[in-house]
Amino acid sequence: MKAGIFTTTIDKIIATGPELKHFHFAFEPGTVFDFDAGQFVNVLLPGPEAGKTIKRPYSIASAPSRKGGFDLCLKLVKGGYATTYFWAIKEGDKIQIQGPLGRFSARQPLPKTLIFISTGTGIAPFRSIINDLLEKGTTCEIWNIFGNRYEGEIIYKDEFDALAAKHPNLHNVFTVSRPKTWTGEKEYVQFMLKKHISNPADKHIYICGLTNMINAVEATALEMGFAKTQIFYEKYD
Ligand SMILES: Cc1cc2nc3c(=O)[nH]c(=O)nc-3n(C[C@H](O)[C@H](O)[C@H](O)COP(=O)(O)OP(=O)(O)OC[C@H]3O[C@@H](n4cnc5c(N)ncnc54)[C@H](O)[C@@H]3O)c2cc1C
Repeated sequence: MKAGIFTTTIDKIIATGPELKHFHFAFEPGTVFDFDAGQFVNVLLPGPEAGKTIKRPYSIASAPSRKGGFDLCLKLVKGGYATTYFWAIKEGDKIQIQGPLGRFSARQPLPKTLIFISTGTGIAPFRSIINDLLEKGTTCEIWNIFGNRYEGEIIYKDEFDALAAKHPNLHNVFTVSRPKTWTGEKEYVQFMLKKHISNPADKHIYICGLTNMINAVEATALEMGFAKTQIFYEKYD
């Protein structure tokens, strides 16, 4: 679908961690908004100067099957314009968005194994893609390698655990780099790739988050024998 500009209403806000929020956006009745899992929207916010708009991209965190709206998950950036604005938003407030945008979707034909690697809110497009693939009955093996600093930051953990219980082809690897009481994996995501994945044949890797992490994962994947054509990423900074 060609990108357009839409007025949405924030109909639910869920604080999922000290600096993390999950937002439900609702379209006006009758709105048609078709997107591919993995795409993003620009939010259009009133800027500090009258008449000027501030635009920021955010990955859609819900699957395309969710009709009438979509979800975003945001991390508060200290001093950041858009995230500070979003932290003051209340349910019922209206926001303009532009979209759908981007090409960060699962490439067809699908390989035997898909590996999704993210940190923080980089999980957003993968929540959309993984749900979409499973809803469509994929038989691909799916690895969801998700890193955070603290255990309290693992957004959607219960949901991914429930999905894996239902779909044996989904393998979640949660890793926490600065654990408090966490007894699970503790290494950075690139080490999780090395630990859980061996032969690169018939596999695609998707990486989402901040540049430093993406570069580290890509370097590890190339070392492991993956070709650049098997690696896709979306940089948030
Ligand atoms: C395609 C795409 C999809 C994105 N999806 C998401 C998403 O789903 N959820 C989400 O939370 N963000 C996402 N981002 C990042 C988002 O667009 C903003 O950059 C981020 O929310 C900061 O915006 P801001 O206006 O609050 O901060 P700004 O006012 O733009 O920045 C303030 C300062 O913080 C630095 N900064 C910017 N972003 C970060 C960061 N993430 N961590 C640390 N420092 C930072 C900037 O360099 C700047 O110095 C995405 C970015 C892209 C390109």
